Amino acid sequence: MNLVFLGPPGAGKGTQAKEVAKEQGLAHISTGDILREAVKNQTETGLKAKQYMDAGDLVPDAVVVAIIGERIQQADCQDGYVLDGFPRTYEQAEALADTLGQHGMTLDRVVYFDVDAAVLVERLTGRRTCRDCAANYHVKFMPPKADGVCDKCSGELYQREDDNEQTVRNRIDTYEKLTADLIDYYRQRDLLSQIDAAKDVAAVQADLKAILD
Ligand code: ADP
Ligand code: ADP
Ligand code: ZN
Repeated sequence: MNLVFLGPPGAGKGTQAKEVAKEQGLAHISTGDILREAVKNQTETGLKAKQYMDAGDLVPDAVVVAIIGERIQQADCQDGYVLDGFPRTYEQAEALADTLGQHGMTLDRVVYFDVDAAVLVERLTGRRTCRDCAANYHVKFMPPKADGVCDKCSGELYQREDDNEQTVRNRIDTYEKLTADLIDYYRQRDLLSQIDAAKDVAAVQADLKAILD
């Protein structure tokens, strides 16, 4: 089963993708996580991506398309994967279709996380992320058991630099300009399922499970 999770930043894609991947034995592929790792390690890709990420702009299509092309060929993707945060432009969606075709793979479903922009700013500015395992928390909606410490791996929680209000607003604008058209793109291809991502984490998880079963 190969899935795409589509929706604005802060919709809860990463939170749900991690759970679904664990439950269904799928690989979780987050282009954001991969890019942040590359920035941390100062790889060539990381050096190219950093300025865009800091500004809340999209990294050039060619960079993320190359990342995905490599990643989906790895062994843990054989039984399927969840693409979280990719594709984000028409060009990326077309490149994905080409790449899947080349490897004899198909896309089974695109889940659109529908939520009002008003909710997103609070979700993103309150997000805390684990430095070691990239798990996400929220100061109000999903607090960790101990302040500043990851429940899963005891790693240190930090606030992403791009989770400040100004950059968040730019990311939401960027989503509306460049990514939101993919809703229709996948609807026209009969691949789209929509969920109400304004509900709490458990309710979204249940709705998602119903779709995937
Ligand atoms: P995305 O991957 O779509 O950007 P995340 O999964 O990282 O979104 O979630 C953004 C923030 O909102 C995180 O701090 C997360 O803990 C919190 N969050 C996720 N889902 C919900 C939800 N259903 N209700 C409230 N907060 C949520
Ligand atoms: P969020 O979960 O809040 O939407 P991500 O972690 O997915 O944030 O992405 C963080 C940043 O990484 C984006 O603002 C963008 O700069 C870059 N990025 C991630 N995925 C893509 C993509 N598919 N295309 C272009 N840039 C991307
Ligand atoms: Zn952790």
